[in-house]
Amino acid sequence: MDFMLTKEQQDIIQAARKFAKGEFPERAVEFDREETFDLAIWKKACELGFVGVFIGQKYDGAGYGFFEHCLINEEFWAVEPGMAAQVLSTTFGAELIQLYGTDEQKQTWLPRLVTGDAIMGTAITEPEAGCDVTQAVTTAVKKEGTYVVNGSKMFITNGNLADFLLVFCQTDPDNPSRHKRHSFILVPTNTPGYQAIKIKGKMGIRASNTAEIVLKDIRVPQTNLVGEEGEGFYELMAFFNRTRLHIAAQAVGLARAALEESIQHVKGRKQFGASLASFQVTQFKIAEMATKIRAARNLYYEAAWNADRDNIDHALVAMAKWYSAKIAVECADEAVQMHGGYGYIDEYKVQRLYRNAKILEIYEGTKEIEKTIISKTILGGNSNES
Ligand SMILES: Cc1cc2nc3c(=O)[nH]c(=O)nc-3n(C[C@H](O)[C@H](O)[C@H](O)COP(=O)(O)OP(=O)(O)OC[C@H]3O[C@@H](n4cnc5c(N)ncnc54)[C@H](O)[C@@H]3O)c2cc1C
Repeated sequence: MDFMLTKEQQDIIQAARKFAKGEFPERAVEFDREETFDLAIWKKACELGFVGVFIGQKYDGAGYGFFEHCLINEEFWAVEPGMAAQVLSTTFGAELIQLYGTDEQKQTWLPRLVTGDAIMGTAITEPEAGCDVTQAVTTAVKKEGTYVVNGSKMFITNGNLADFLLVFCQTDPDNPSRHKRHSFILVPTNTPGYQAIKIKGKMGIRASNTAEIVLKDIRVPQTNLVGEEGEGFYELMAFFNRTRLHIAAQAVGLARAALEESIQHVKGRKQFGASLASFQVTQFKIAEMATKIRAARNLYYEAAWNADRDNIDHALVAMAKWYSAKIAVECADEAVQMHGGYGYIDEYKVQRLYRNAKILEIYEGTKEIEKTIISKTILGGNSNES
């Protein structure tokens, strides 16, 4: 196998690193404390071409793959996860439009995500439907040439900021198969009946917007169906097989930041008349972190490289997502430990890394669901879990 990145990919990494280092650190503490963000930073990222690089050139994107989007995620998350999350989550759902949308839908909705003229999100989770997405009871009922959408959604990224959302709705609630009941409906958020309530007090990625959504008698044209009616569950699984790669890359970025902060700290800090780096216990921690990061990166590289060649390996994607998130949590924990009391204070980046890491084991498939997918692929059985 050839693990060499192309010159273009190396340039993307360098440019993403430079942008993140230039824009993120100065305002990181402010956004984390105040649970806010300055969208001018997202606009700038769009102008410089970092947002939606996987969107095809026909729709104003760079036409790169998910792999390149992963590379940007890793670099941005290595600098400041909360801000990275806000900038790069603005296209969350574009993967699905690109996979299943009509040409007209792609022309209408995708270019503005790239140019910084629109933000989107994807609303699947509900108060009673988390890991088991088939329990989603938001309905979309056909009436007079429209879909009428009613229901509520929980924990929706960009709920307060999005111009439009892809909403996972029941369109055929009586279908005997729970995997054939749902469809994706595109809902512009300026439609009467849309309400978003910001969720405050998140543990981490506090610069990223999260909301509870209420959808009351929302009427959209039937042409807003994205994909096929009744195929929403399978389309969602295909979508996650792309977006989970991005989460794996986020996790590797975060773990890398934890390592970089730790190296700097243990080299500078002295106890017992010697630098922390001189103790073998510390050296082993650094060695373990570096090895785990390398292994996690190799997993997501392989999974993303294959995904860009339409070779989706469901279990490999789950392995990359689960393992990268796990080592991100472990590396952030060790980083705080090596910082001692300083690591417990929010002015120190490692404190934020520790709080930011946990979401990686929860969203877009909890670690338990990822392991269920892996084990069912190995042992047999239905692995269609979110
Ligand atoms: C910051 C943030 C952003 C988010 N963004 C979005 C978004 O943009 N769009 C969206 O739709 N959702 C979003 N989510 C929701 C997220 O995807 C869900 O929280 C996640 O899927 C888990 O669902 P739940 O919280 O209902 O937990 P539950 O499903 O109630 O699970 C609770 C625990 O039980 C475990 N569990 C459940 N079933 C099983 C099983 N069969 N076997 C073993 N263990 C099991 C889970 O792994 C978990 O540990 C976001 C969440 C957060 C916190």
